[in-house]
Amino acid sequence: MLLTTKVETFHNFIGGKWIESGSSKTFQSVNPANQEDIVGVFQASNEQDVQQAIEAACQAFPKWAETAPSKRAAILNKAAAILEENVEKLAEELTREEGKHVTDAKNEVLRSAQTLRYYAVEGQSFTGETFPNDDPNMKVSTEREPLGVVSVITPWNFPISIPARKIAPALITGNTVVFKPSSDTPLIAYRLVEALHNAGIPEGVINFVTGRASEVGDLLVTHPAIRAVTFTGSTAAGEDIHKKSSFTTRTQMELGGKNPIIVMDDADIELAATLTVNGGFSLTGQACTGTSRVIVLKEVKEAYVQKLIEKTSALKIGNGFEDGVKIGPLANEKQLKNVLKYIEYGKEDGATLVYGGKQLTEGQYGQGFYVQPAIFTNVTPDMRIAKEEIFGPVVAVIEVGTYEEAMAIANDVEYGLSASIITNNLKVAHQFTKEIQAGTVKVNRTTTGNLINAPFGGLKKSSTSTFRESGRVGLEFFTQVKTVYVGY
Ligand code: NAP
Repeated sequence: MLLTTKVETFHNFIGGKWIESGSSKTFQSVNPANQEDIVGVFQASNEQDVQQAIEAACQAFPKWAETAPSKRAAILNKAAAILEENVEKLAEELTREEGKHVTDAKNEVLRSAQTLRYYAVEGQSFTGETFPNDDPNMKVSTEREPLGVVSVITPWNFPISIPARKIAPALITGNTVVFKPSSDTPLIAYRLVEALHNAGIPEGVINFVTGRASEVGDLLVTHPAIRAVTFTGSTAAGEDIHKKSSFTTRTQMELGGKNPIIVMDDADIELAATLTVNGGFSLTGQACTGTSRVIVLKEVKEAYVQKLIEKTSALKIGNGFEDGVKIGPLANEKQLKNVLKYIEYGKEDGATLVYGGKQLTEGQYGQGFYVQPAIFTNVTPDMRIAKEEIFGPVVAVIEVGTYEEAMAIANDVEYGLSASIITNNLKVAHQFTKEIQAGTVKVNRTTTGNLINAPFGGLKKSSTSTFRESGRVGLEFFTQVKTVYVGY
């Protein structure tokens, strides 16, 4: 584990220079496993800093838009190599800053490098179409061009891979970027920008501004030069941004979820319990696609719940540097309070807490934001733990009599991010993929996880229903289309 006694101060990156905020104020990034461990000191930026960053991005745009795609790709590839070379150090920093296990942190850094490489290739062949027409002396085609300056605003739960999957397609298509990371995880975001800088990105093409959303959020969204905002975070913040941004600003919002897993009466119970534990409790339940509702057929409910408790009780809770730890701390105090609040709501609303749900405060746990994973049974669909996003290690088990009942409940929430069904019945599996209201649909797999090369996004209040992220379609958001008619 990396232990530093001297706390380093990190700067914004504007117009190719690392600079202090004009506010002369800073804030600390704190280790959620040990609040005495200060990971770094960061600039508490203000609107003047954002203004400067947007101006730098505007200035850099024309040249970057004209830069050969192969040159842009070379920078992404070099930045990927830098992340890979430094993966051990970066994973340690990520764990100290966010709390996830260092193995998960390492995988996240490597996935971010892979994402840069993926878009370096895919972005170079992203092009328009040609259209047959009746005029033998005319060619009709579409051309794609970059939008201009793009704001990138990201959360703390995947603090480098989410920025990578937004910044890489933005840059490869010729846009310039102003990037504001979560105030809980600015260090690993800084490392991504540093890698791009060390890879030779021209000044002003990527700009990095840290600071509270309450200080810098509005201008990042409402400044007239911002042509697009790509945001991942809570539905409340996403709705706010969507409303504030102007008619000519594109928005891409990846938001909250309340993801169900349906356990059918023919399900492999062992598999169902394993997938629930992995989907519901890995990353301490802090994945947007995390499993938070289990809708289980009554014939198998008892056996399933027993297995689920057995597997959950075997999970080791601790800091992300300990071997075998499966559940780390929650990422911040707000998260801890929110999870404990929902555990109380579950009890108040009449659900039965059959496992866990207590805050851990003894020994090393007292220094961090630890809570036992919680399993509730006797949950009814109207309860708050069955309807609202908790974003923590809390699973609500709802018993049903039929597949139809399960589907009605699965779809009766305002979210539609991810969903899974556990069954060996092919007909039911196909029916599920058709009827479920979710952007990511799985059969006999966890609700979590998505490929770099496949589209990702939600339905209903889990996303704006405009542009998908990831994969080839992830490039569409960052380009505009012109239809060109050439007579000759
Ligand atoms: P959050 O509070 O909404 O913050 C996300 C980011 O937006 C942070 O950088 C935050 O800055 C900034 N922000 C907040 N309000 C803003 C506003 N009004 N205007 C501009 N910027 C604003 O979310 P979080 O707690 O970091 O992350 C957890 C949420 O993210 C959960 O709801 C989860 O489901 C969702 N999520 C969704 C996906 C997906 O792909 N669908 C993936 C991961 C997470 P500060 O840090 O300075 O407040």
